[in-house]
Amino acid sequence: MKTREFVNSIRIAEGNRFRLKDFDPAETLGLKSKEHAQESLDRGIARLSERQEMLYAQDRWAILVVLQAMDAAGKDSTIKHVMSGVNPQGCSVTSFKAPGPEDLDHNFMWRSQRFLPERGKIGIFNRSYYEEVLVVRVHPELLAREKMPAQLVTGKIWQERFEDINAYERHLSRNGVLVVKLFLHLSKKEQQKRFLDRLDTPEKNWKFSENDVLERRHWGEYMNAYEEMIRNTSTKHAPWHVIPADHKWFARLAVAEVLIHALDSLDLSFPKVDADKEKELKNARRALKREL
Ligand code: ATP
Ligand code: MG
Repeated sequence: MKTREFVNSIRIAEGNRFRLKDFDPAETLGLKSKEHAQESLDRGIARLSERQEMLYAQDRWAILVVLQAMDAAGKDSTIKHVMSGVNPQGCSVTSFKAPGPEDLDHNFMWRSQRFLPERGKIGIFNRSYYEEVLVVRVHPELLAREKMPAQLVTGKIWQERFEDINAYERHLSRNGVLVVKLFLHLSKKEQQKRFLDRLDTPEKNWKFSENDVLERRHWGEYMNAYEEMIRNTSTKHAPWHVIPADHKWFARLAVAEVLIHALDSLDLSFPKVDADKEKELKNARRALKREL
């Protein structure tokens, strides 16, 4: 399968028939190993870097990359590897942890708004406002902490949040912020393997959190919440991508390809030099040469 076809096959632009079970977390498109994929990944990183330079120089579009996944799916390492060729000046990463008192005193979109990328930049959300229809849905006590007026918390709340998110993302897209949403799709079995690895490898012990294992007990509820989320918030202007994540090296490759395709959908180019600028360059060149 060509990469374009692959990216199209994991892009959900219209979610109403979406089913998570149609997607294989262990997909590798026939690639056998990390070594096999390395060359493609290196090339992908280089292509991404070229496009980012143009994005930055043009200073018109912004890219918001939203990353969502279960624990140990590889969000952090995907960011580390895929963005390794990108100029740090043109990129920001924001990790969203549990909300603090100031966050809980505001509407749920409030805290992410401050971290939106500027024009010319790529902003990555490591978790995002989507937690508001995932962890908050799985744990109703988190919703209770949000201090919403009681009459607004009804059976329709998740549907309302989906609508609000869609409207918000449409607003972003109409303002030149391209929203690229990535769900790293990990199997329950592979998560178990990675947790055990964190326990058994001293250098990885720090990554282990007891809470992650407790969350794992809600696996089924999370999968339902993810499926509902993708069904209801996959839109033409902000599609979800279901990234097979059981093989980290394949997930990295897939994410790089998705980002490249997203950037290619924009009219990126280096700013044109007009006649006045041309003259300025000519004069500067002449003056500098005269110094020699
Ligand atoms: P890592 O474990 O790799 O450091 P992480 O993203 O898992 O990264 P943690 O501090 O372990 O970071 O977990 C953050 C927790 O915050 C997650 O359990 C997540 O569900 C929760 N969280 C994030 N946003 C919200 C939110 N809006 N409401 C409630 N909980 C949230
Ligand atoms: Mg964690």
